[in-house]
Amino acid sequence: MRYDVAVFGGGPAGAATALSLKRLRPSLRVAILEASSYSAWRAGETLPPGCQGILQSLGCWERFLGERFLQSFGSRAAWGGEQPYDNEFLFSTHGDGWHLDRVRFDRMLSECAQEDGADVLQDARLAGSQWAEDRIWRLVIRRGGRHEELEAGFVVDATGRSASFAVQQGARRLIGDHLAGASVVFRFTRNNMPADTYTLVEAQEDGWWYSSMTPDSHAVAIWMSDADLVRGRGLHAAERWMEHLRRSRLTAARVALADPETAPGIWAAQSQRLSQSVGPGWLAAGDAASTFDPLSSQGILKALRSGKLASFVAIDCLQGLTAAQARYERILAAEYEQYHAAKTWFYGLEQRWPASPFWRRRQRVGRQP
Ligand SMILES: Cc1cc2nc3c(=O)[nH]c(=O)nc-3n(C[C@H](O)[C@H](O)[C@H](O)COP(=O)(O)OP(=O)(O)OC[C@H]3O[C@@H](n4cnc5c(N)ncnc54)[C@H](O)[C@@H]3O)c2cc1C
Repeated sequence: MRYDVAVFGGGPAGAATALSLKRLRPSLRVAILEASSYSAWRAGETLPPGCQGILQSLGCWERFLGERFLQSFGSRAAWGGEQPYDNEFLFSTHGDGWHLDRVRFDRMLSECAQEDGADVLQDARLAGSQWAEDRIWRLVIRRGGRHEELEAGFVVDATGRSASFAVQQGARRLIGDHLAGASVVFRFTRNNMPADTYTLVEAQEDGWWYSSMTPDSHAVAIWMSDADLVRGRGLHAAERWMEHLRRSRLTAARVALADPETAPGIWAAQSQRLSQSVGPGWLAAGDAASTFDPLSSQGILKALRSGKLASFVAIDCLQGLTAAQARYERILAAEYEQYHAAKTWFYGLEQRWPASPFWRRRQRVGRQP
């Protein structure tokens, strides 16, 4: 099979790339090659204000509303002091935010891309790639235990933080910290679900708690700290995780009436960027190109925007206008620099635990990776 563009990864960045390509050039043959079958739970559920515009431009806003995700009216942070403060979206010109079921959200986006004419191949992983002299990618994918071959004029790596394709092409992942998350999903009964859907962030010695209500009477609480500190506390074990939760003030109170539904899941959450996000016949988009700290709640929105931008560059490159890749690289570098400055400033606001390794590591004035 021959495609104009093969997109590895069917998360928000990959789906946005395919959707935008099909909107801009309906005749392009586009494939999404997705490793999963959209069944296992995924982390990252708060979609901040500002999502409506991009989802409308990708043609999936009505479908999004039909999923009946949970509207979010603000966020609350106990950060830099005991007293929490609120950021109400009421005052945002971008409207409200949303709490998602990420599996349903990612599946919905890929179904929209399929309806717009992209092929979506699930359970498909890259097994080999070669950029041939005729400027065509010869790709080998492993799917359902079998190897299949396909060709593509351009490849978009949207495989998330593993950046599998880019790394295969020689790009290096430049790691800025070692943040990791330990998450547990809770279930409320219909009668005891709190009315307050704010995203809550609560700083503590050695890390911070993130919690959010999610659709269908669920909530998720995630302890964010450095990977060595998460390991050191044994937080992959349910009883240690629950014991640690009880040391928090606001987060524990929030899920006190709910039952834990899962064992702790451990997630890599480090900030990173690639040494190069483009190369002959390819580019990286979304988390594959750079990841932001979950504290920012910007990852999904950034991935959608990045996918859209990637589609413009892919179309230029298919027409031989490869200068677009250098412009793309510059945009990503400026975006990461801005993000790094904001992250350093925000972590700098928390000064209560000067001896804690977690906060000390973040308050060293660091160069970005
Ligand atoms: C603990 C945690 C909490 C977070 N909370 C939030 C939040 O509240 N709000 C927010 O906006 N962001 C949050 N994020 C970040 C957000 O989840 C990501 O930024 C976002 O998912 C990036 O989208 P993406 O499409 O680039 O990558 P991903 O969502 O990672 O999608 C990558 C896709 O590629 C597939 N894939 C992987 N490898 C291959 C391969 N070799 N071949 C084919 N397919 C492959 C995967 O199955 C997946 O579908 C959080 C992240 C973490 C770790």
